[in-house]
Amino acid sequence: MDLLPHHHPVETAAAALPEPGTAKTIAPGLLWVRMPLPFALNHINIWLLEDDAGWTIVDTGVGSGKTKELWERIFAEHLGGKPVIRVIATHFHPDHIGLAGWLTERWNAQFHASLTEWLFGRMLSLETPEAMVATSLAFYREAGLDEAALAVMAERGNAYAKGVSRLPTSFNRLKEGDSLTIGGHDWRVITGGGHTPEHVCLHCPDRGVFIAGDQVLPRISPNISVWASEPEADPLDDFLRTLDRLRAIPDDSLVLPSHDTPFTGLHARLDALTAHHRDRLDETLAACREPSTVAQVTRIMFNRPLDPHQLVFAVGEALAHLNHLAHRGHLIRHIDAAGVLWFSRA
Ligand SMILES: [Zn+2]
Repeated sequence: MDLLPHHHPVETAAAALPEPGTAKTIAPGLLWVRMPLPFALNHINIWLLEDDAGWTIVDTGVGSGKTKELWERIFAEHLGGKPVIRVIATHFHPDHIGLAGWLTERWNAQFHASLTEWLFGRMLSLETPEAMVATSLAFYREAGLDEAALAVMAERGNAYAKGVSRLPTSFNRLKEGDSLTIGGHDWRVITGGGHTPEHVCLHCPDRGVFIAGDQVLPRISPNISVWASEPEADPLDDFLRTLDRLRAIPDDSLVLPSHDTPFTGLHARLDALTAHHRDRLDETLAACREPSTVAQVTRIMFNRPLDPHQLVFAVGEALAHLNHLAHRGHLIRHIDAAGVLWFSRA
C-alpha cells in the first residue's frame, strides 16, 4: 500500500485504459478488462485468454450487482460468441474471487485455484460475524489500538463475506509447477507467498507474458499483513523469498498486474520491492529503540490519516515487519499485564 515509482509502464495515458464494461486487446486472444472497486484502490485488472472452445477468465471482480452488470456487457460484446469455460482465481481476496461462484454457475465453467486460497476463501466466507469480530477485537486490542478504533472494528462484522457472492463448493487444484494449455500455449503455475499464502501467478514463456496478480504490482507494494487468524506469522519472509524466486522469469516479460497498468522491467521492480521492505525493516527497528506497541509503530510507518479499512491494512503491515524482526532475533515480543503486545530491541 506504499507508493513507489512506476517501472516502465507499457500504458500510461488514461485514454489507453479499458473503460468499465469493455475489453482491450493486449495481444491476439488476450484481453484486458478493468472492474471498479469500492476501495481507495479503485479498480482491478482481469485477463481473458482465448481458446478454441471458449474463454478462460483470470480473476473476477468483487461480488456486487454492478460488477455482474459489467460482466454481462463484456459477455455480449467481447467474447465473439464463445462461452466462458474456465475461471481462475489468483487468490482469495474478494476483488479476485468475489464472483467465482456466480461466473462458474452462469457459464457452467470449471473453477481453478490453489488449495490454500480456495480453503481460505471458503472458511472466511462461512465464518460467523460474532466469531470474526471476537477474534479481531482480541488481536487489535493486543496491538494497542484505542477503544474508538476498536468500536469501528466491531462494526465491520464479517467484512470478507460482504465482498463475495458464495464461492464454488468444488474446484480444480492448481499447484506450483503445474501447466495449463490455453490457446495452444503452456501457462505455468507459479505460487507465491506473503500477500496471501498460496497466490497463483501464471507465466507463458512462449508469449513472454507473466500474469502477476497482486504478487508484483507496478506502483504500490502489495499489502503484506499479519492477520488475527495467525498473530505470530512472518508473511514478509514468504514475500521476500517469492520475490527472489520470480527472478527466474525473463526480465523482458510483459507483466500483467492486478492493479495499475501492464509493464516491463520485472527485475528492477523485484529489486525495488525488496529494497522498500528492507528500508521499512530498518525504520521499524529504529522505531523500537524504545519499547513500542504495534499501534505506535503503525503511526510512525503510516504518518497520515487512515480510514478504518486502511487502518486494518496498516496495522497488519506494521506487525508483519515487527514479527519478521522478532523471528530473526532482532526484537523481543512481550505481552504486558493489560494484554498489550510490546516489541523491544533484543
Ligand atoms: Zn489481494
